[in-house]
Amino acid sequence: MDLAMNATSTPGLSGGYWNQFDEISKTNVSLNYFETLWLTWYVYMQNDVLATGIMSFVLHEVLYFGRSLPWVIIDCIPAMRKYKIQPNKIPTAKEQWYCAGFVLLSHFTVELPQIWLFHPIAHYFGLQTTVPFPPVWKMVYQIALFFFMEDTWHYWTHRFLHSSPFLYKNIHKLHHQYSAPFGLAAEYASPIEVMSLAFGTVGCPIIFASFTRDLHLMTMYLFVVLRLMQAIDAHSGYEFPWSLHHFFPVWAGADHHDMHHEKFIGNYASSFRWWDYIMDTENSPEATKRRREKKLAKVRKAQ
Ligand SMILES: [Zn+2]
Ligand SMILES: [Zn+2]
Repeated sequence: MDLAMNATSTPGLSGGYWNQFDEISKTNVSLNYFETLWLTWYVYMQNDVLATGIMSFVLHEVLYFGRSLPWVIIDCIPAMRKYKIQPNKIPTAKEQWYCAGFVLLSHFTVELPQIWLFHPIAHYFGLQTTVPFPPVWKMVYQIALFFFMEDTWHYWTHRFLHSSPFLYKNIHKLHHQYSAPFGLAAEYASPIEVMSLAFGTVGCPIIFASFTRDLHLMTMYLFVVLRLMQAIDAHSGYEFPWSLHHFFPVWAGADHHDMHHEKFIGNYASSFRWWDYIMDTENSPEATKRRREKKLAKVRKAQ
């Protein structure tokens, strides 16, 4: 990173992270607070592979468990039961601890060894780590595109995992252990499933970068943060009158994925409802009604 290199060669740049932050702020006045934090991190680490690896891993851990915690608390509040999609299936503390331990073990044994490859791969395919960050409009359209790409990848890969008893039994069955999901269960899955579905989240931005050479790591992080929040919320087991899909009807939300865990069939997409609608794999009372009416209309026509 060019700007980082300039900053490291600044005479007198030494000391801890915040000392370096102060010195970089003085010499790079055009950068905003977050850009200075970012640049200081790379300067402080003196090793881009380690800097990106540690930042990615810590971001994932803090966000995964931080976003799951409110759902653990909500499960302890009886007044919230009226919003629970399957109100008779409240996860026990033992189930939640076991699930958290399994996910944590998987993060340390499957994700951590691979994360050191992330910076070299990202760099090879043209992801930028320099400052300043790209303009907001660019981040917004790229994140929207990644949501669309990931949802498409997720729909077909997830449907594929349900397409044969062999794949289901050996790979995907583990994720379906909880027929009433909860936030922490979002990444409760076999390593093969985690890697194949995570390709949608990590691989789609990298493919985009390899074609356009116009993607910043910060944009990718923002997408990963939003996608992770979506995955945890979709597994929360709670449906509220203010849930996003009431205002943005193509958004999948928790009721969409909860039904998938309860019935094991249909609703294969992650973020949006359109693939299940187009491919007629939607599983909801409305979809069942629609199918019945279609069948009846066909029978009437044949008579
Ligand atoms: Zn499934
Ligand atoms: Zn699930």
